[in-house]
Amino acid sequence: AKDGGRSRSEYYKPEMDAEREERLHLEIDLRIAIERRELMVVYQPVVSAADGRIVGVEALARWNRKGHGPVSPDVFIPIAETSGLIDQLGLFVLHRACETLKRWPSLKLSVNVSPGQFRDPAFPQNVASVLRKTEARSADITLEMTEGYFIQNADRAKTSMAELRRLGVHIALDDFGAGFSSVGYLRQFGFDRMKIDKSLIHALDHERSAVDMLHATVALARSLDIPVTAEGVETDAQALQLRLTGCDQLQGYLFGQPMTADDIDGLFQRDERR
Ligand code: C2E
Ligand code: CA
Ligand code: CA
Ligand code: CA
Repeated sequence: AKDGGRSRSEYYKPEMDAEREERLHLEIDLRIAIERRELMVVYQPVVSAADGRIVGVEALARWNRKGHGPVSPDVFIPIAETSGLIDQLGLFVLHRACETLKRWPSLKLSVNVSPGQFRDPAFPQNVASVLRKTEARSADITLEMTEGYFIQNADRAKTSMAELRRLGVHIALDDFGAGFSSVGYLRQFGFDRMKIDKSLIHALDHERSAVDMLHATVALARSLDIPVTAEGVETDAQALQLRLTGCDQLQGYLFGQPMTADDIDGLFQRDERR
């Protein structure tokens, strides 16, 4: 045979096992870390496009895996999703972030929500319970979600969204421009805010068509009366372009990396003194 006589399973087995085993270990460690409340929450500033002042923060989960070091959310969030840990993880982040928001009476808070959490019919009640326990002001809180779930489960998504709205929280469409980004559902679901994906922002530097895309996207949002945040802003040129185009909020390394709550305090005081 072409593969030198080895069967397919023999050929693939060692690698597959190693990969599966590593994933299993990750999952076990993640479960323990969540139970022991060892995950951290960091906060990335969101600034007003008009004057660069901090107006809010996005909460982002961090995991420093014992004996291994930091694991990227792009790795552990999908693991949490497939292993039934995402509800617990997501509520932990929401709870911690709502508690922390009390330090900043004038700031808004955004928290990411995975499709797996949103799918749970108990999700709106769980959010309500966190709001009650932390006494957070629901109007200051925005839940960020990506489009996938809305496309696949339109009816369920509408019900959950209506329940969340009744609580007074806002719902933002995250990563716009990264996937299918059909215009239809944007209108259908009535999001409170659109976040333009960083891939489009980064493309502004070297693709002429990206500028046209940006203009079209912001025009679309404006026609639906949806305010726009640009994420992943790294350069002054991008910030200027985005400001001129009509994004009202900007977020990215240019204004601040995700940081601890104490570091946000520092930033905030700097703004106060200006
Ligand atoms: P996201 O919600 O789109 O978050 C923005 C990501 O872009 C963050 O990556 C942030 O650190 C990064 N970022 C911010 N500014 C810049 C910039 O100027 N340049 C570049 N290149 N990147 C920038 P992070 O923290 O690694 O998170 C990755 C993704 O993991 C998030 O994407 C979100 O989808 C997910 N995630 C993180 N925390 C949570 C959480 O608590 N719950 C859920 N469900 N998902 C989370
Ligand atoms: Ca987000
Ligand atoms: Ca995003
Ligand atoms: Ca993302």
